Amino acid sequence: MLLFRQLEFALAPCLPAKSVGRDLRLEALARELLLAHGAVAMAAKVRVEWSARLRSAAGRAECDKARVVLNCRLTAHGEGEIDRTLRHELAHLLAQARAGRRRIAPHGKEWRRACADLGIADEARCHNLPFPIRRLKRRYLYSCPSCRRDFRRTRRLRRSSACLACCRAFNRGRYDERFKLRLVRR
Ligand SMILES: [Zn+2]
Ligand SMILES: [Zn+2]
Repeated sequence: MLLFRQLEFALAPCLPAKSVGRDLRLEALARELLLAHGAVAMAAKVRVEWSARLRSAAGRAECDKARVVLNCRLTAHGEGEIDRTLRHELAHLLAQARAGRRRIAPHGKEWRRACADLGIADEARCHNLPFPIRRLKRRYLYSCPSCRRDFRRTRRLRRSSACLACCRAFNRGRYDERFKLRLVRR
């Protein structure tokens, strides 16, 4: 059992800049899914991109541009969440493709049907990231004695916690007392 924890930045940058932009693998999957459900024109145009600009939204669908934008912070939540978000946004594209010029409600019955066709019949209507971005007051300020990075927490750390970046850099990722976080203020 681990008796310590290692903390990453509270607000880690989501991905290196080069990872933002088109994702050809997801784009191929999107094309395949749209084609499988008869949205041929949409399939030919569809683009899937990662963006660092979305905040709490996990993704966004731009039907007029046949574009799905995914929040790069999603990568921290694993393939399952990425796949689900992609399908949620694709359902918007598919629903609009089927509706043609007719205006449809963003999460109305057409979208629900598209979700069911794309294998996420139980999808919720929100686009938010799987974790809540709450505006909790992070009262406790800790600091790494080595790299001086700040770590803000809403609660006091109970166990020994170390700076993961330093443990990775200098101790192969294992806990190292030298990088134990110190309480600066509360
Ligand atoms: Zn939606
Ligand atoms: Zn550190």
